[in-house]
Amino acid sequence: MSTRDPLGYYAVLELHHDASDEQVKAAYRRRAMVLHPDRNPGRDTTEQFQALNEAFKALSDPSARAAYAAGAAALSTRPNPEPPPPEPIKCASCGKVSAQPRVAVYRSVRSFLLVTVRKPISGVFCSECAQRKALKASATTWLLGWWGLPWGPIHSAQALLENMFGGTHPPLENARLLAYQAHCFEAAGRQDIACAIARDGLKFCARIRPTARQAALISERDELVRRFKAFVAQERPDAVRLKNSWKLGNRFFAFHAGAMGVVAAAITVAIFNAPLYERTLPKGSMPYSSQAVAAPAITASSPSAVRQIPPPVFVRPKTAPNGKPWPVVAGYLSGEPQTRAGGHSEITIDNGQNDSDVLVKLVSLSADVARPTRQIFIPANGKFTIKSIAAGRYDIRYQDLMTGVRSRSEGMTLSESADARGIRYSVMTLTLQRVKNGNMAIHDLADGEF
Ligand SMILES: [Zn+2]
Repeated sequence: MSTRDPLGYYAVLELHHDASDEQVKAAYRRRAMVLHPDRNPGRDTTEQFQALNEAFKALSDPSARAAYAAGAAALSTRPNPEPPPPEPIKCASCGKVSAQPRVAVYRSVRSFLLVTVRKPISGVFCSECAQRKALKASATTWLLGWWGLPWGPIHSAQALLENMFGGTHPPLENARLLAYQAHCFEAAGRQDIACAIARDGLKFCARIRPTARQAALISERDELVRRFKAFVAQERPDAVRLKNSWKLGNRFFAFHAGAMGVVAAAITVAIFNAPLYERTLPKGSMPYSSQAVAAPAITASSPSAVRQIPPPVFVRPKTAPNGKPWPVVAGYLSGEPQTRAGGHSEITIDNGQNDSDVLVKLVSLSADVARPTRQIFIPANGKFTIKSIAAGRYDIRYQDLMTGVRSRSEGMTLSESADARGIRYSVMTLTLQRVKNGNMAIHDLADGEF
């Protein structure tokens, strides 16, 4: 016991004898938090708490403190019981002393219909017990958290994630705890462990972010930092490095993550099996309008099950659809509207394999309703290139003018893009054949869709 501190008042407050009044107050608050009997259900701290109060009374009053200083020399000769060595804080769950206890908070959520209750589970734990607490909080949440609206699922997901990543560790409480723990290990002669704990403590101090108006908090934090730095300054080069038992690789992490994974997989499976909507366009032809210009009337699509049965004898109409005689050479039907022009893409329709004339329509599939954009006559063994087609989705529909059979191609996409070398666009060739084995898949076409 130092001659400056004969009654051990400064020691109880963990202060040097020239500490300022402000530091005395801060130290008292800090030690009171640690030693208060209500906060220590597992051990009897009443005596230490009383000693703390006595010390504070003597040092917080300026005249009493002056008297203590003046009488120190005289008092120092008085026999005085040594204060007991400080006892390190133990895990609230298993009671073991740990160099790295933490104040940790986990959340469990319980819901029922419209009520959702979030309950924090907090305490000073060793890392082992903390993992068990987290798992228990999560298990409760998995079972009981979801069943309330709207907050049940939201709070549950949040709590589960938080617990999975180790819960929250409030920085101020942890810094205080570690300052005390470092002091205890030092008093027990384990300077090396005290240094390691102080390093941990500094990390928590860095996370304390008081606002400019929280003067008491600022001074407490600065005091904690000063004390931790004092420990670290004494560190020897061969000092121990504590393995951080609080790192993510905790042995229950797989449980948390596994449970999350199972649920995520179940949700994914449910979504992909939901018969709610189509993810691909229907294979059949689209609703079709024979009007090339936008028209409000939409003709219903024919059910694909009804196949067009060609009349036994097809008689070629006397005139083309434009009311004029059939042309002799390949070309657009005069007078028929041409839309979706102005692009660069081209489709060549090769009727060279075919010994009958065909009437061809280029049909745009880019809107809700399929619409013809060009009508072309191609004689037997002829060929025609449709030019200046705007980018988009199209198919080709054609009628064999000898048999009357109507067919359509698969949908195709014409694309157009500009790059450094110019504009890139689609160029296609479709070969029409009487036998359906040309370079495209073709389908029989209902009457109303030509
Ligand atoms: Zn424990």
